[in-house]
Amino acid sequence: METVLERPAPSATGFEKLAGRIEGRVFTEGHDNYDESRRIWNALRDRKPAAIVRPKTVQDVVQSARFARANGYLLSAKSGGHGISGGAVRDGGITIDFSRWKEIEIDAGARTARLQPGLTWGEIDAATQEYGLAIPGGKVASIGAGGSILAGGIGWLLRSHGLTIDSLRSVDVVTGDGRLIHVDGRTNPDLFWGMRGAGSYLGIATSFEFDLAPVNNVLAGIVFHPIDRAVEVLAFYREFTANAPDELTSMAALMYGPEGGKTVAIGVNWAGDLDEGEKVLAPLRAFGPPAADMIGVMPYGLLQKELAKMTPPGVNRGMKSGFLQTFDDDFIAQAADAFRTAPTPECMMLIEHHGGAARAAGNDATAYLHRDRDYNLVIDAGWKKDVLGRETYLWLASTWNRLRPMTANAAYSGYLDADDIGRGLEAFGVAGFARLRNLKAKTDPGHILASLPGLRIL
Ligand SMILES: Cc1cc2nc3c(=O)[nH]c(=O)nc-3n(C[C@H](O)[C@H](O)[C@H](O)COP(=O)(O)OP(=O)(O)OC[C@H]3O[C@@H](n4cnc5c(N)ncnc54)[C@H](O)[C@@H]3O)c2cc1C
Repeated sequence: METVLERPAPSATGFEKLAGRIEGRVFTEGHDNYDESRRIWNALRDRKPAAIVRPKTVQDVVQSARFARANGYLLSAKSGGHGISGGAVRDGGITIDFSRWKEIEIDAGARTARLQPGLTWGEIDAATQEYGLAIPGGKVASIGAGGSILAGGIGWLLRSHGLTIDSLRSVDVVTGDGRLIHVDGRTNPDLFWGMRGAGSYLGIATSFEFDLAPVNNVLAGIVFHPIDRAVEVLAFYREFTANAPDELTSMAALMYGPEGGKTVAIGVNWAGDLDEGEKVLAPLRAFGPPAADMIGVMPYGLLQKELAKMTPPGVNRGMKSGFLQTFDDDFIAQAADAFRTAPTPECMMLIEHHGGAARAAGNDATAYLHRDRDYNLVIDAGWKKDVLGRETYLWLASTWNRLRPMTANAAYSGYLDADDIGRGLEAFGVAGFARLRNLKAKTDPGHILASLPGLRIL
């Protein structure tokens, strides 16, 4: 049975006191920077915090946490602002806006990097690629480091190099009770376990240290097929990925294509010997054949930039997701049929291929649990302001109702939406959830940081 903790009633006065204690800036509603700072990628989550802190130093974050706890405010961090649920900004809370924290130091010789949470993966990829190195980050260049690292990090190098957290060496964390601690596998192993998958529930991350992997040119891109071949293409994708080498990370998509109409697409990233990659990808490029083949040798990071262009900010969005129990013919038929009625060009259904190197650590290694799952379903619905909102949300809900029985009651926390009530257990499991609750009692005893998704333990 969860307990709801008592917090002091928020006091509207006192932000000037906080401003006096920090080197950075504090904004409240009416300030010129307030709206820019509270805005996030998903326009549906239009939230108004009581105050926004743009910290200059780590001590500013410490002071903000102490202030929030003492004065009864919930505290959240905004890094890239790309999270679907809008957890970065909470109504009536205090938001730490890290969007200007974009330093990255690379030691190419040691193959390590130290980076701040406000960088996007596009910026990180550009910096590390200067040295022919990479961190396995998000699939879309506009995703922020902070939120995605702490959720686990699914990207185009997942099967070849693992999740983002598998390259994480350490993280500096400000706890909900205002302490700055360094967390790594030796000094704080239990908290390091939790920060890798459930980090945003346990603390505010101010800096990350990573191992870098040599990744230079990759064989990557997308093939597009006519939508009326969706069933055949998805069945081919299942066979093609069933025994794919770990160098290949891919996903299939039912989506609107660059030309505007509905299409079925397969996106790939081969991070290995390029000649070998040509051979492995040959059946994919021959099948159909595709209506368009946009696969080629390119610098790592280019595909992510293209995907960012296809998913611009400022659109209302909802998402439903879950790892598949079985990727069988019935699932394929139902998914293809459901996409026929997708009402807007911002709707898509993705099937990500997981496993490979992400599987190696084992499910217990980190709070990110589902390393042994093969396929993840993501249903994404978007609509521009007031246009088709109700219809699109109903499509999302009905499609999820239809496909959810084919999922494994297993979710990635980074994809959970604000209305995914009760799905925290699906992300972390019963044992993981209990372990996280014990950690949270130590790092956030006032429960001012995010609750575990869906379980509303504030
Ligand atoms: C279209 C789309 C595509 C996506 N693709 C991928 C993908 O390829 N791979 C993947 O792994 N995920 C993906 N995601 C999920 C995304 O990674 C997560 O939502 C992630 O949290 C976003 O990170 P951010 O820093 O941009 O988020 P924000 O919106 O800034 O934050 C998201 C959450 O993390 C918390 N948080 C942010 N920064 C910190 C910090 N420094 N300390 C503590 N808590 C913090 C926030 O409070 C919030 O709860 C995708 C989401 C969408 C909508």
